[in-house]
Amino acid sequence: MEAATEVRGSSKASASEEGPRNANVKKFLKKSQNRLLIGGKWVPAKSGKTFDAVDPTTEDVLASCAEGDKADVDEAVKHARKAFAEGAWSKTGPHERARYLRKWADLVEQHTAELAELESLNNGMPIALAKQFIAVTVESIHHFAGFASKIYGETVPSDPTMFNFTLRDPVGVCGAIVPWNAPILMSAWKLAPAMACGNTVILKPAEQTPLTALYLADLMLEAGIPEGVASVITGYGPGAGSSIAEHMDIDKVAFTGSTEVGKKILQASLGNLKRVSLELGGKSPNIVFPDADMDMAVPTSMAAFSMLTGQICVAGTRLFVQQNVKDEFVDNLTKFTSTIKVGNPLDPETTMGPLASKEQYDRVKGYLEVGKSEGAKPAVGGNMMDRKGFFVQPTIFDGVKNDMRIAREEIFGPVVSILPFKDENDVVFQGNDTSYGLGAAVWTKDVGRAHRVARSLKAGTVWVNTYYAFDPAMPFGGYKQSGIGRECGAHWYEHYTETKAVFMKL
Ligand code: NAP
Ligand code: MG
Repeated sequence: MEAATEVRGSSKASASEEGPRNANVKKFLKKSQNRLLIGGKWVPAKSGKTFDAVDPTTEDVLASCAEGDKADVDEAVKHARKAFAEGAWSKTGPHERARYLRKWADLVEQHTAELAELESLNNGMPIALAKQFIAVTVESIHHFAGFASKIYGETVPSDPTMFNFTLRDPVGVCGAIVPWNAPILMSAWKLAPAMACGNTVILKPAEQTPLTALYLADLMLEAGIPEGVASVITGYGPGAGSSIAEHMDIDKVAFTGSTEVGKKILQASLGNLKRVSLELGGKSPNIVFPDADMDMAVPTSMAAFSMLTGQICVAGTRLFVQQNVKDEFVDNLTKFTSTIKVGNPLDPETTMGPLASKEQYDRVKGYLEVGKSEGAKPAVGGNMMDRKGFFVQPTIFDGVKNDMRIAREEIFGPVVSILPFKDENDVVFQGNDTSYGLGAAVWTKDVGRAHRVARSLKAGTVWVNTYYAFDPAMPFGGYKQSGIGRECGAHWYEHYTETKAVFMKL
């Protein structure tokens, strides 16, 4: 095995301007100290406590955010219940709700520059990628808004003396708990569907990335969404998050995050049997057959494990390559990976920013050690970067076996395991040999094989000859320990409504 190739990216601090650049972002950061959106008003946390939102590129504090906890959640629930049961939202029809959501979506679109810079500053994602996420966010809000007036009940064939039909009632007050990897999109995927159905909602963003959720909240107020309909409580998981999960007057919780915390959410829901939908972790197989279009398969497989510094739940981190083409494939993948430009995510030429937090930096560092001690060989990368900020080298581990920890556990960093396979049966077995089932991809020109493998893989999303294709009109979610339920698509509202059967004697 050759020595690991170096990955470009300066080991010294970049000469480019660091920290906030946009004047509106600077203004927003100043006003974002210690404030929660509750009942349509900005208020400080009742405890007066704050925590720091950090820039992972510079390790500087961007803002001291309000540390909401149980008392603040209780207050938000009171407002949410009132808005739902007797206040403005209960009197709002589906077309009007759709108009509010569309207005909000338009404002998000108009504020793309500010939101993208803020997301990039707080999460570390390259600015161009942040803009793409915002475009998908806008499209997603429109998707949910369009459904507001199309969530039909059914008239049911009945005895001539009866008229039987179903109604789709909003479930009530919803809680939403989201992670730090794609904060704007994840927040929108919870807020918009809840509101489209006529529910009210309380959002808790991740402690690492609270800022864009607060910006989205400003835009909701500007869109005129009535008070109490949506609240945003920044704070910690144990505290604000667990208070939402346990709350006896919250009817439903939608969660995106780790499988470990997802299980806690499910346990906490037992008190009032609240409805729970979960989008959890993954360890997705990306499968390359020798007849694949390698000009597409190689660079796309690189993006599959390294985009967003590998912090994507559907990242293709188990890369199965048929054994007769494996070495050549790894050589080519290594060449491409060596061109990744690591640096300040606000610089347009940067293609990989830092990991989102110190916690994530330590976690990925730990897994690089685990991989080496298990006997895997870095074909490229393998180390953290010696510079300010939470930077890591994109890493390809060759010589991996499917029972190693680096092939089984979600690393959530730009680290891929290369796994050779013999034939179709072998790779379907190995691909499914995981506790997760979120994403999968197959690369082949053989249409029959593409269909067979796509059907055999136990994953919520399967890509054929592509990766990361996304459309809010397609369902998203996981098999097995990758979650419960589906977001987006055509049936998402199952999780935000209750079905009522009405029997009428004529
Ligand atoms: P996490 O630790 O599970 O946190 C997710 C959210 O849950 C955060 O807001 C967190 O608050 C909160 N939380 C933590 N403990 C809680 C508790 N006891 N009760 C209620 N809420 C609690 O996940 P993460 O580290 O932020 O994100 C990475 C993980 O998310 C990865 O495993 C990734 O695969 C998964 N993910 C899945 C998807 C998907 O769509 N399937 C999408 C993105 C990410 P704090 O911020 O205070 O920790
Ligand atoms: Mg966490």
